[in-house]
Amino acid sequence: MLPKSDPHDPAVSASRPAARAAPPTLRRGAKGPSVVTLQKKLAAAGFSPGAADGEFGDRTLSAVKDFQHAKGLTPDGEVGSKTWGALGRKVGGRPSSGGGHSVSGYVKGVPRRITVSSVPNGKDLRSDAAVAYNRMYAAARSGGITLKVNSGFRTMSEQQALYKAYKNGTGNLAARPGFSNHQGGIAVDVDVGGTGTSTYKWMAAHAKSFGFVRTEPSEPWHWEFKP
Ligand SMILES: [Zn+2]
Repeated sequence: MLPKSDPHDPAVSASRPAARAAPPTLRRGAKGPSVVTLQKKLAAAGFSPGAADGEFGDRTLSAVKDFQHAKGLTPDGEVGSKTWGALGRKVGGRPSSGGGHSVSGYVKGVPRRITVSSVPNGKDLRSDAAVAYNRMYAAARSGGITLKVNSGFRTMSEQQALYKAYKNGTGNLAARPGFSNHQGGIAVDVDVGGTGTSTYKWMAAHAKSFGFVRTEPSEPWHWEFKP
């Protein structure tokens, strides 16, 4: 039987101290196990770094930039402590679920705690919807389309303001406060610019495969996560 911690066992002497050290800063051209970890975490977050081959090449660089953009970080392609933190690497001993945080939402008029995560343009969606959206965002990017989010999760006061504007005749149709699926974190307004645009056509062709469907006949920008 092996002793509990054999200093000659490379798996013990190499990986345990490394897991507690500050994560290495990675950039294009980096190679090795840390790059494999990076590639796996990017893929788990819905981005496309290519095969987890431990080589930080163009596809990994592009996935890192997409991820940084999605998280509101500077998209410089360098993986330092902020990017590692957003990827959910243990920082300071606290297990992270990838940056999700709990907020007060509403589902069909009933208050509910929901966990939201970031999508591009500084918005949030319920975490499962955010992972799917970020995956869709990366796929659109590789097809030459940049999806822009105009509205994602909304707080009660945000929905109240939109509803008031709608009632005043100064805003778009808005659901009664408490009853918008934006308050449940599953609705996302994408800046499609009308049904004739390449962005709309991309969404119409691909959104369903990521779980997003249109639910409001008069609002081509409004999509909901209903996988
Ligand atoms: Zn909407």
